[in-house]
Amino acid sequence: MKITNVEAYLIAMPFEHGAPKPSQRSGGVRTTLDSVYVRVDTDAGLSGWGECFGFACCPVTHFALKKVVAPMLLGRECDDISSLMLELHRRVQSSGRNGPLIFALSGVDIALWDIAGKACGLPIHRMLGSSDLRKRIPAYASLMRLDTAENVRKVCRDVIARGYTQIKLHERTVETVLAAREAVGPDYPIMLDTNCTWDLQTSIKMARLLQPCDLTWLEEPLFPPDDYKALASLRASTQIPIAAGENLGNLLDVERILDAGAVDVIQPDPIKMGGITECWKALQMAEERGVQAEPHSPWHGPGLVAALHLIAAMKTDCLAEFYYADLAKSPIGAAGIPRDGFLSVPDGPGLGIRVNEDVLAEFRVA
Ligand SMILES: [Mg+2]
Repeated sequence: MKITNVEAYLIAMPFEHGAPKPSQRSGGVRTTLDSVYVRVDTDAGLSGWGECFGFACCPVTHFALKKVVAPMLLGRECDDISSLMLELHRRVQSSGRNGPLIFALSGVDIALWDIAGKACGLPIHRMLGSSDLRKRIPAYASLMRLDTAENVRKVCRDVIARGYTQIKLHERTVETVLAAREAVGPDYPIMLDTNCTWDLQTSIKMARLLQPCDLTWLEEPLFPPDDYKALASLRASTQIPIAAGENLGNLLDVERILDAGAVDVIQPDPIKMGGITECWKALQMAEERGVQAEPHSPWHGPGLVAALHLIAAMKTDCLAEFYYADLAKSPIGAAGIPRDGFLSVPDGPGLGIRVNEDVLAEFRVA
């Protein structure tokens, strides 16, 4: 089977999340959820879909996919995904082992798995060896930053009414985290993700102040995210479990952060660290070491579904991260939307989803 075409879609999707739109690090207010979808076509008439981490305000992943990766793929045999991906990783290595080119390769890898599944008639979780026990994965509501106690209480009530049984906050103050704890009650799991905000000393101080909030985990408290030594120091200083991993670009980074003893929970992301192929290796490495793995998946398209297949194939139970937002339109229909706090694992061949290209066309910015 040869690759005949690679189509890159940079999507900016309007959303609502039951509160004012969050501010974003690059300035201004976040009004869309952005992503890069990729469709790979073959001469066998099969096409596959993938998703790459990328933004419309800084469209470097889209550029990397369209201008660098896509030309490398045209005319290539794609039956042996591992060999083709290894060659591509070698070809782009001088541009870095993390970042836009790796994000672009990640989406392509997912699309190739989608094609391979369609070719053999199996869902990806089966190809990975799942026992087919997990048809539904519990999803936790990953809330955007809400900034005020009032907004936090309001959205927490919405989330519980929709049937979610666990919440992740992206707050940065003790006051807003305590507001969530009051709103959900003492036994409801709350995770906190600060997106690499503090230095080590501030993290240690904040972890102490956050102790009464009874967090399930504290995620990415430190900048820079690859200071595993500092993260290990924080972990040694607090009883709150430490989570990280979404900023890891490759399997060796996963090994390094585990070797450093920096995390209780590891969160590799299929659309950032090399697709199904590399993320599956990372999850298996974590399982072998007895470290809890929770794939990072705050996406609404093929990236979310790729994570569901990975989770379904794991030996240990884990949660799916769902970025809590109602999209203007879901490009993958109901497959991208939790029901009663669960996401279903598609059972059709490949990813088992249909991507609506009319929806992509409507919200495509490049
Ligand atoms: Mg995170």
